[in-house]
Amino acid sequence: MSYCRLGNMDSDVYMYLIAENPAKLECCACALHPEGRCVKLNSRASAVGHLLCHIEAGDRVPQYAIDRLVEEIREEFRKEEDQG
Ligand SMILES: [Zn+2]
Repeated sequence: MSYCRLGNMDSDVYMYLIAENPAKLECCACALHPEGRCVKLNSRASAVGHLLCHIEAGDRVPQYAIDRLVEEIREEFRKEEDQG
């Protein structure tokens, strides 16, 4: 499942959930990585931070990718609250 893809008009970033571990994400062919490799992100919160770094660096990051991550973080908090 990807949040945004390279090659889309509005995105310089390709970020997706790691299939084997859906709590973690990967920024593939990351422009912030010195060798342009994939960067692993241990949580959605760190993924949001990573996307903000891309924006700061002048990369195009679609707003919907950030919105979706933030929404999923909210859902996680709601679930934790429900469990008490
Ligand atoms: Zn990146």
